[in-house]
Amino acid sequence: MRKLSLNGNKEASNIFIENNLLKKVSEKCFEVFDCNKIHIITDSNVASIYLDDIKNQFSVPVTYTIVKAGEQYKRLDTVQNIYIDLINAGITRKDLVIALGGGVVGDIAGFAAATFLRGVSLCQIPTTLLAQVDSSVGGKTAVDLPQGKNLVGTFYQPRLVLIDPIVLSTLTEDIYSDGMAEVIKYGCIKNKNILDMICKCDYKSNISDIIYECVKIKRDIVEIDEHDSGLRMILNFGHTIGHAIEKLGEYKKFSHGCAVAVGMTAAMKIANIIDNKNNLTNELICILNRFGLPTELTYDREDIFNALLSDKKKMGDTMNFILVHRFGEAEITNISVKELHDLIIKI
Ligand code: NAD
Repeated sequence: MRKLSLNGNKEASNIFIENNLLKKVSEKCFEVFDCNKIHIITDSNVASIYLDDIKNQFSVPVTYTIVKAGEQYKRLDTVQNIYIDLINAGITRKDLVIALGGGVVGDIAGFAAATFLRGVSLCQIPTTLLAQVDSSVGGKTAVDLPQGKNLVGTFYQPRLVLIDPIVLSTLTEDIYSDGMAEVIKYGCIKNKNILDMICKCDYKSNISDIIYECVKIKRDIVEIDEHDSGLRMILNFGHTIGHAIEKLGEYKKFSHGCAVAVGMTAAMKIANIIDNKNNLTNELICILNRFGLPTELTYDREDIFNALLSDKKKMGDTMNFILVHRFGEAEITNISVKELHDLIIKI
C-alpha cells in the first residue's frame, strides 16, 4: 500500500493508494477516527455500485445521502438537503462524513462537512480518475452559483483519503478521459515523465503509479501553498478558460475534464503568442486527442472573455494566468485584463 502524508496548516491528511482498498474502508477509518456514527454522501450512479459494500463494513450506525449525479447539482440547495440529513441522523462533531464519488460529490460533501457544526471530520473516497488525482486531495471544497463555478467554498482538509484504482473499471471511457485531462495537466506543469507514462499503450496497467505521481505533485504544492495565494495557482493551468467554457455550456455541454483540455490548449496558444520560442500546442493537442479530449475553442471569443471575468481569480485590473513554455514547468503570469482580452481574441 502506498501512503502520502499531507501536512496542512491545521490538519494532516493521510492518503492511501491501493487496489481493492474499498474492502478496507472501515479498518482504515477506525485507524484515524474515533467516531460513533458515519454519514456517507454519494451520488445516484456511485451508490448503486459501491454504497452497500462500504456501508456494510461498519459496526457503528451508518446513514447516507444520495445526491443527483452531475455538476448542475453542485449547488447550495443540495448542501442544504445534506444538512437536513445530517441533523436527522444525529451527526455530531465527534462523527465522520465520508464523501464517496467523483469530484462533484467530493466538493459538495467536503463543503457540507466543513460547514456543518463548524466542521465534522471528513474522509474522501474518490471514485473517478479526476477525483483520485486531483479533487480529493488538498482540501478545496466548493459549490457553484448561477454566476460562476466554485464561487462559494472553503479550504478543509480530509484527514483521510482512500484511493482504490480498481473502482475506475466501472467508469465509462469518457469519464476516464476527463481524469486524463488533469493527469496531462500535471505532466505539463510539473513532471514531463507523466506524459511519457500515459503515452505507453498499456498505461492503464500502470494507473496506480500514474495516480501516485500526480497526487505527490499535488501534495508537494499544497504543503507549500495551502490557500492558493502563490504556487498552488499553477494547478489552475487550463482552468481559467476551462471554467468559462463550462459556464457557457451551462455545466451540461462540457464536463470539467473536457473544458480543462480546451482551456489548456488555449493557454498553450497564448503562451506561444507571448513567447514564440517553443510552440508546444500541436504536441499537447496530439496528447489530448489520444484520449478523445477536445481541443477546439468553439465559443465566441468575446463571450469567453466575459464569462471568465466573473472568475474569482481576477484581482482588480489584472489576473493570474498560468503559462507553460516547456513541458514540466509552469509560470504564474500576472496579466492585465485588457491584455488577456486581446490575446483571447487572437487565438
Ligand atoms: P463527477 O463527480 O460528476 O463524476 C462523473 C460521473 O461519473 C458522474 O456521473 C458519477 O456519478 C460517475 N461516477 C463516479 N465514479 C464512478 C465509478 N467508479 N463508476 C461509475 N460511475 C462513476 O465528475 P468528476 O470529473 O469526478 O469531477 C468534476 C468536479 O470536480 C468538478 O465540479 C470540478 O470543479 C471538481 N474539481 C475539484 C477540485 C478540487 O480541488 N476540489 C479539483 C478538480 C476538479
